[in-house]
Amino acid sequence: MQPITGKTKLLGIIGDPVEHSLSPVMHNAAIAELGLDYIYVPFPVKQEDLPQAIAGFTATGLVGFNITIPHKQNIIPLLDEISDDAVNIGAVNTVWRTESGWKGTNTDAVGFIAPLKTMPRDWTQMTPVVLGNGGAARAVVAGLTNLGCQEIHVVGRNRDKLAQFYQSWQHSPKIADRLKIHNWDNLSSVVPAADLLINTTPIGMSPQVDASPVEEALMQKLKPKAIAYDLIYTPNPTQFLKLAQEQGAMAIDGLEMLLQQGVAALEIWLQRSVPVEVMRNSLKKHLGLL
Ligand code: NAP
Repeated sequence: MQPITGKTKLLGIIGDPVEHSLSPVMHNAAIAELGLDYIYVPFPVKQEDLPQAIAGFTATGLVGFNITIPHKQNIIPLLDEISDDAVNIGAVNTVWRTESGWKGTNTDAVGFIAPLKTMPRDWTQMTPVVLGNGGAARAVVAGLTNLGCQEIHVVGRNRDKLAQFYQSWQHSPKIADRLKIHNWDNLSSVVPAADLLINTTPIGMSPQVDASPVEEALMQKLKPKAIAYDLIYTPNPTQFLKLAQEQGAMAIDGLEMLLQQGVAALEIWLQRSVPVEVMRNSLKKHLGLL
């Protein structure tokens, strides 16, 4: 890595907590590989301090930054412009400087579909089923729409939140028209129809590493040619992915999504292609997977 001098350009991530973010690992690995005079730093920022933090970034000449929980929505009114993707998803995870001020977008949808786009499938004929209807599910639904899926099934446990989720897409008919909402009680009728089953709930994360959002008996009804996609990247694989693989299904973990949303962000900031393999390996090494 280059020595830090008065000329070093600053990138970063804001969140609370931000201590465990893997973004500094992959971005600084790419910066070092490219031999650039940049550094990517985590900034812990409390919710009430967000406006001052952004004003500070403006004053200090920061090039761009990522946003994680709990600021992904609250950042929007503090920006000068946001992309269509960010409007649809209702959240921003990447911000950069333009001549007219800070511009925000959301690279989670691009990151989510990146491993799917490499597969030779006719996505218009596939039935995706999304488990959960929180923040990550929004990026997943936007990504599946961009992929060309004609019907997108979303399963949630809270009827009110599920109804709100459905309502929140009404301003984007392209997405709303393909959305089918199901209560968690109907999981047994939805899972066997899935060609692509996506876990966007935190079920399976530490300490509940033996838990799966879909119990074993129902996972046995998964189509053998289905794809199971878990947004969780640690443990790796999750119990959900293990059960899917036992049925012969293909498994995708959340590491590639994490990586590819970062690749898309770094390309925006640097305006050039970035060393994806170096970034992937830095994450795997950090997580003990290499
Ligand atoms: P979130 O906004 O809190 O949403 C979580 C969703 O899961 C909510 O719909 C929640 O329902 C549901 N849920 C939680 N526990 C459940 C249970 N026991 N049964 C059924 N549904 C349950 O969280 P998020 O930001 O979307 O993140 C979700 C997961 O995705 C996390 O594991 C996160 O680490 C992962 N993620 C990965 C990436 C990546 O790059 N790989 C990116 C973003 C997120 P309620 O609303 O009813 O609580």
